[in-house]
This record gives sequence, structure tokens and C-alpha cells, in this order.
Amino acid sequence: MKTNLRLESSPFCYVYSKYKIEEINGKRYVMPEEKAARKAISITEHIDDLLIETLNIGKKEFFRQPIEEFELLNYYAKYGSFGFMIDLAINKYFVLDEKVAVRDPFYINKKENVDFINTEEYLKFFLPKLNKREINSLIKKCKSAANENRKEDYLTSIINEYLIYSEHYAEPLELILNYTRALYKHFYWALDNKPLTMKLPFLSVNHLEHKIEDLYYNNSFGFTINYLKQAIDISYSMQMAQDVRLLKICNFCEKAFIANNPKAEYDTPQCKNKANVYKSRGKTISRNVIHADDGITVKIPNID
Ligand SMILES: [Zn+2]
Repeated sequence: MKTNLRLESSPFCYVYSKYKIEEINGKRYVMPEEKAARKAISITEHIDDLLIETLNIGKKEFFRQPIEEFELLNYYAKYGSFGFMIDLAINKYFVLDEKVAVRDPFYINKKENVDFINTEEYLKFFLPKLNKREINSLIKKCKSAANENRKEDYLTSIINEYLIYSEHYAEPLELILNYTRALYKHFYWALDNKPLTMKLPFLSVNHLEHKIEDLYYNNSFGFTINYLKQAIDISYSMQMAQDVRLLKICNFCEKAFIANNPKAEYDTPQCKNKANVYKSRGKTISRNVIHADDGITVKIPNID
């Protein structure tokens, strides 16, 4: 089966000009800086770069390599937040309900079952700077938007604006690292042909919107992407499903990359050269060592 599938960014996706890492209630969060400017962004425009950069943050976490704060902050300033708050909720319009049904809450509790959390509590987790009164007035605002908007498209974008695109929206560092590591780990294991028995908490397509009208106009079928994590998960699935897979892991530095040539083994000419030097010295490249600019270290994948 060949398909012509397109991903299109909703026009109501946003990024802030500057982000910070702040500790709130004992958790470290990434959130917009005060008075940072918000602008609309297409989250599908650079979707290949987005996927690779996400996987490579996960790669560092997987191999327990240090991740500098600025790397995460640059990532956020480029692409915005992941949108975990919407993504982890099974009931998409949880803000209109009493409780949120959450999948594997935050990848931190490692609960395989669905967990129910009070909506106020859930909002407080992702909007940690708001007090009870502010949270309740936000819930009211969302409910009145639902009363006024009969078209679901509008409601989705308005609620997303109030929640995941709000200046108060924050994502825990731990959650970001767990997610990116899970994505890389899945990829790494798939390439090693290990049985993929692990649960895939990240591949969620339950909140995707279809654009069936594309079939009439350009003989393609489209998905409207409303937040970053959707774009990453779908583009990862599409890359993995290619007949000739171009999404690869460099044989030298273990970074993910998208190759132009299906036979490529290295992400850069530098890695290819370094690998050749190793080979010419008669050293075999083992998958148990990791090569970095400052030398070699033994890999201890973070697999739990
Ligand atoms: Zn490389």
C-alpha cells in the first residue's frame, strides 16, 4: 500500500522568544520567561530537524551523557513546548470534566494503567505558578469557550491557547527527558532488532485531526498537527514505516540522522573519517563504546 499522507501545522501553534528552567514545588520545569514574546509557528515546517533534535536529546539521556540547560532552552525557543498536558490526557477536553484520565502519568510513576487525577490538580502540575483561584478562573474561561463554540476546530485551538500555549505553562524536565529517552530507546532497539516488548507511551494518535477534504483537492490525506509532540510521534512513525528507511543511527557517534543515501552509515564525514582511522588501526568498533569529541567512554544505556 502506498499512501500520500501530509502533516500540516495548525495555524494556532505558538513559541515564546525565551525560556527558563525554574524549580517549583521541588520539580524543575521549563517554561517561558516572564514577558517573553509569543509568536505563531509552523511545527511541521522543519519536521525532519525537529525529529532528529528530539531523538538526539534522548540519545544523551539514554547513554547518560550530560545535557546542558542551554541545549534544552534552545530547543524550546526553536520549537516551543511539547504539549504533554493535552497529550497525556485521554479525555481531550478534560478541562470541561471533573477528572483527567491520564496515560502512564508523566512517564515517571511508570503506571501502566490509566490513572485518574482531579482536573484542578492536573492543571496545577503543568501551571505550577498559578494559585487555586487563578486555576479555577482558567477552568471557567475554558468552559465558557466550549459553550460559545460549536465548531470543534475552534474549541481545540482556543483551549490549547489557554493551556499549553499559555505563558504560565511549564513542563517538568524529568518528563521531557523520559519522553525523549523513550523515543530514542525505541529507535535504538528497533535497529538492533530487539523484540519491542516495551510499551509505547509516546505514540499517541488519539487527538489527531483529519483533513479529509485534501482528498478532493490534491489527492492526499492530511493530519492537522496541534502541538509539538504530535508532530514528533507521527513523523517518527512515518520515518520508521518507510520501505527504505532513511532514519538511521550513526555507526560512530550513535546520533540519529536522516540519510540522503540508504547505504549511509555515518551522520557526518568527520564520523566516517574517525571510524576509518579506528578500522585502519585494526580496532573493531564495538557497540559497547561511545565515541565523543573528547574520547571514548563505555556505554551504559539507561534502559529501565
Ligand atoms: Zn556520527
